[in-house]
Amino acid sequence: MTLDPQADIGRRAWLPCPNCYHTGPLYLLDFDINLVWVQCGNCLRRWWHDTGVGHRKHPEYLFDVA
Ligand SMILES: [Zn+2]
Repeated sequence: MTLDPQADIGRRAWLPCPNCYHTGPLYLLDFDINLVWVQCGNCLRRWWHDTGVGHRKHPEYLFDVA
């Protein structure tokens, strides 16, 4: 897997990666309502991250495709 072509170094977030536990930077690839599609800059894993805005019943990670 390589860095997603949508990855923009100007759009990054500092969150812990659930795969390699490296804390950021995560590349923000896309977003939908209260979810953000992020990719770890360290291991390149991608997943939907729930920002927790608005809803609190969603699991933190709905699914991932890595
Ligand atoms: Zn990672």
